[in-house]
Amino acid sequence: MRLTIIGCSGSFPGPDSPASCYLLEADGFRLLLDLGNGAVGALQRHVGLYDIDAVCLSHLHADHCLDLCAYYVARTFYPGGPRPRIPVYAPAGTASRMAQAYGLPEPPGMTEAFEFTTLEPGTRQIGPFQVTTAHMNHPVETFGYRLEHGGRSIAYSADTGETAALAGLARGADLLLCEASLLDGPDLPADLHLTARQAAQHAAQAGAGQLVLTHLVPWNDQARSLEEASGVPLAGPVSLAASGRVIDLG
Ligand SMILES: [Zn+2]
Repeated sequence: MRLTIIGCSGSFPGPDSPASCYLLEADGFRLLLDLGNGAVGALQRHVGLYDIDAVCLSHLHADHCLDLCAYYVARTFYPGGPRPRIPVYAPAGTASRMAQAYGLPEPPGMTEAFEFTTLEPGTRQIGPFQVTTAHMNHPVETFGYRLEHGGRSIAYSADTGETAALAGLARGADLLLCEASLLDGPDLPADLHLTARQAAQHAAQAGAGQLVLTHLVPWNDQARSLEEASGVPLAGPVSLAASGRVIDLG
């Protein structure tokens, strides 16, 4: 199982990264986890535009889903004819929200390009991956993910405030890709995002093998995020996500 970080900028694109998007590959199957602003551009550095087999969205904030509009254009108006429909697993209401975002009448909205499946908490098979989803702690319905294949596992927090559900999802995972939107400080907003230290505490509770901090907001000092997370004793290394970084879990 291989993870390629396409976009890891939090809340809006940064100078060096699009918003959230992660490419997971196993057995030749390619799955995109989130498709935030700007991700379709950077994606093309790593994989053919039409080589994606499935898209999974965590939630309907623009920095996690809006480039589905760009990808709809790329698939629908390809000079050789529309590309075959691919599945999109996403929260309830995604098909309508995306149609509205692009100004498309419904029907069909984007349903001729994408086969939308409404997510529920639980486990399903997507290609070669066993995919488990759980509700996170965020102002809109948000799913964290755990993907397993060949004895390896990656958990993804999506956006979340503190929640025991995240440690449950990431239990014993080889890698936890965890949002760290905030830095330590007074008057932090509740039930919205994690600090880097809280991300590390969740990784410690889960016993995750390694922690990769992501959803890094351009106005934060990334070195400070890493320093704050490093103050928590962890089972494995902690590092920062970066657009273009590839992590091969074997
Ligand atoms: Zn969000």
